[in-house]
Amino acid sequence: MDTVELSDTLLQEHLSLIIESSYNPILITNGELEGPDNPKILYVNPAFEEMAGYTKEEIIGQTPRILQGEKTNSSALEELKAKLSRGEFFEGRTVNYKKDGTEYYVEWNISPVKNKKGEVLYFISIQKDITERIDLQEQEEIFKLSIEQSADHVAIISNKGFYRYVNTSYAKRTGYSKKELLGKNPKILKSGKHDKEFYQKLWADLLNHKVVDATFINKKKNGNLYFDDQTITPIITDGKIVSYLVIGKDVSDYLEREDTLKALAFKDELTGLANRHSLSNYFDNIRDAIADGEEYSIIIADIDHFKQINDEHGHLLGDKILKTFAKILKANIRESDKVFRWGGEEFIIIAKTKLKNALTLTNNIKDKIATNLYCEQIQLTSSFGVCPIDSQDFDAIINKADKALYQSKKNGRNRISVCE
Ligand code: GH3
Ligand code: MG
Ligand code: MG
Repeated sequence: MDTVELSDTLLQEHLSLIIESSYNPILITNGELEGPDNPKILYVNPAFEEMAGYTKEEIIGQTPRILQGEKTNSSALEELKAKLSRGEFFEGRTVNYKKDGTEYYVEWNISPVKNKKGEVLYFISIQKDITERIDLQEQEEIFKLSIEQSADHVAIISNKGFYRYVNTSYAKRTGYSKKELLGKNPKILKSGKHDKEFYQKLWADLLNHKVVDATFINKKKNGNLYFDDQTITPIITDGKIVSYLVIGKDVSDYLEREDTLKALAFKDELTGLANRHSLSNYFDNIRDAIADGEEYSIIIADIDHFKQINDEHGHLLGDKILKTFAKILKANIRESDKVFRWGGEEFIIIAKTKLKNALTLTNNIKDKIATNLYCEQIQLTSSFGVCPIDSQDFDAIINKADKALYQSKKNGRNRISVCE
């Protein structure tokens, strides 16, 4: 009997010590649920004081309702009350408020403490502040939603090379559903537009833990191609690649625009002919052919007294005439020849033929120009300089052709001069 009494005393001593030093906040109320003052807080441990910001003195005698507020989960409270009034155990989570009004998430369970007759003497509530965990969960949720709803294409590819995750934008751009993509190899989008070296370099870099930026030409499910500007980041844990993060942007529109801009930069706006800039590109294109002995000639044309036409009929009409002039040139060259607007009313034709044929061509053009009626009544003529392209010094050849043209002007216009 003695030992039992001793042990009870010890237990009693230790129990209060355990409760006092418990890491979990603990609150004990009386067993009464009814009435505005009930249940009444009889005890809180230091961990509870720490969590709720109330001292023992401040909170003892109050009801736990002072911890509640706007965001407190009312359905959890109803369940709590129902269970407790049946003398049952309760467990739940809610938002509570500290003394200074700060909210915190709490997970708590409440057990009724009954005497031998089954009457509820107390309720003991063991609590846990889970604010940090909830914050973390919220953060993860926001993180997931953000990636999922990102306008950029996001995919996670396993280190074995299979889709583990694709967001909505990614799937949408490929034309495949998420389900069709997951578990598949990104090869599914292969367009055949990249060579072996492209993939070899890509994988070599990735396996060396390098971030890769590349523009992929991918093929959609319906066979259409699109350009995807991607950044692929190897995700590394403990020095090993666990997956690859792909973030991409569809740049098809941008590239199309760039192409248009490039084309515009090489095109004369008024006449639609290739402009001065594209002549040097063209020279570069024919360099090899010339080196191989292919014969080319240059024809330079300048409208006679165009200033006068402008002065008499106005600049707008002058523009119209320039357009017609360009059309005549274009209509009278062969497919292998190319015409450029060199400057205001000066044009250059690169004819893929020897000088003799180029002269025939120029003669024909000279006649067509002189016999045409521009804007129904206006007539005009043009002078020409013609040279064989007999070296790779294109500037020198243009100069020579220009001199020949000047000769034509000097000799009375509406004529053709050949380089000396
Ligand atoms: P020449 O027979 O010696 O070549 O006489 P020209 O009047 O044609 O020669 P000049 O080079 O003195 O004048 C060229 C004129 O072409 C001057 C300019 O007003 C006109 N011109 C140049 N570009 C344009 C253009 O885009 N539109 C119009 N309407 N006129 C232009
Ligand atoms: Mg001129
Ligand atoms: Mg002129």
